[in-house]
Amino acid sequence: MKEEKQIHKSYFDALPNEIKMEFANAVQDLNNQIVKVADEEGIHVAISSVHKFVDDEVEKAKIKYSEEGKAISCKRGCSFCCYIHVDISPPEAMRVLSKINLTEKQVEHLERQKGYNLNNWTELPYAHRKCVFLENGECSVYEDRPLSCRKYMVVNEPEICNTEHENNVTTVAAAGIVEAMCMSSALAFSSASMAPLLLTAWNSKPEEIKKRSEEYQQRVNKDKNKENGYDETGGAESDAPETETEVLS
Ligand code: SF4
Repeated sequence: MKEEKQIHKSYFDALPNEIKMEFANAVQDLNNQIVKVADEEGIHVAISSVHKFVDDEVEKAKIKYSEEGKAISCKRGCSFCCYIHVDISPPEAMRVLSKINLTEKQVEHLERQKGYNLNNWTELPYAHRKCVFLENGECSVYEDRPLSCRKYMVVNEPEICNTEHENNVTTVAAAGIVEAMCMSSALAFSSASMAPLLLTAWNSKPEEIKKRSEEYQQRVNKDKNKENGYDETGGAESDAPETETEVLS
């Protein structure tokens, strides 16, 4: 029998009524835990914990779905989901911007996107919907990509995720605990549309961003020198995006 395809704009709405309250309580519990960690250990520790939690749970879900014969079709090089509307939280935006300098072109791209949100995203011409961090079909900030890019698990053919064509309906494998964590994290950190939030963070240019951007650039330059065969010392860490076989977003 042909599987019915659905997209869950709201995971909560798709839940059976009898477990909605249980889910809401789980969201509240997780929210309390996130706020506690943020208060005690800082907002960046809290964000890292949430990312790790979701990464681990997504891995577990992928194994579970695979055992049920429903392999996840997301894979490296497939980037259709990087053209949909993406949320980011302020600390996630700061983290990304502490590692890269936005180019003029990227700022222009974000300016074109900033008036669009989840409700009117598809009114943007398709080329302008592309995520500002998508380069040559891959995420250029993979290790620090926002939470909303970490939870996506598509089970249909990748082409169906192409939102350039109307009426395509993507089927996602949604894990309850992942959805609960994403929802509680969005509440805790006030997630919002990526373009305006990135622009606000970038334009405010706090000292931390500037300093860490410069340090990052120095490390990139050292790596380039290494590649070019120049001698260099200092043991810079590699900041290249993690090379995984799947891009989850
Ligand atoms: S995975 Fe990376 S390139 Fe894709 S939408 Fe997320 S941040 Fe952008």
